[in-house]
Amino acid sequence: VEPVILTDIPFAPGNDEILTRFHLASDDAEAEVALDLAATARGMARPKAMYRSAYIEARDPGSVTIDGIAFPSRVLSVNLEPVHKVFPYVATCGVEMWDWFQTIHDPLESFWADTLMVMALRTAIEACARHTRAHTHAGPTSVMQPGSLEDWPLTQQAPLFALLGDPAAAVGVRLSESFLMIPTKSVSGLRFPSETGFENCQLCPREICPGRRAPYDSELYARKYSLSS
Ligand code: SF4
Repeated sequence: VEPVILTDIPFAPGNDEILTRFHLASDDAEAEVALDLAATARGMARPKAMYRSAYIEARDPGSVTIDGIAFPSRVLSVNLEPVHKVFPYVATCGVEMWDWFQTIHDPLESFWADTLMVMALRTAIEACARHTRAHTHAGPTSVMQPGSLEDWPLTQQAPLFALLGDPAAAVGVRLSESFLMIPTKSVSGLRFPSETGFENCQLCPREICPGRRAPYDSELYARKYSLSS
């Protein structure tokens, strides 16, 4: 199945939202410079995303084969038990913003630009999820991302990218030698139908994380994913 490529995702945050994200009031001395920077970003940002439908061909207790590519992971294997079709995806703030960010050296402006890239990435993730929901009849979905759990490490970015095809050509996201995505403000993963809802964070004991989306459940692994369960 050919990937869906979204390259025309609008990015138009309002000034109020931007100032809130920058922790500035409109009458702060830095507000004007900050909003000028944001206006530049708005004009040039091209957030992007791609995803495709893929099919589970084989599974065993410790791995899943999707369109001929093996993904060794116990958690993935259990989460995909009731599922036949999955949606690998990558979303990014876009190389345009990333290149622009490299030219900014002032620490405060660099913080603002970084915040704007995160906002653009969030826009791309939401556009990708919306498009998947509207065009695939997947129903409620959850996602898993390589590197979030020891069980599905960052090195699994390589087969995930292979499953997607050519993210570098399609949306400008490539993998470094250490399997990090460039632009760094990119997210990749596997979306799958899920009635119960799954968050990596449920299995992640990290105590301080600003991105946490669900409480850590210290017994969930033993309850649901242990091979003896
Ligand atoms: S708690 Fe934080 S580090 Fe752990 S999976 Fe969730 S977002 Fe990732």
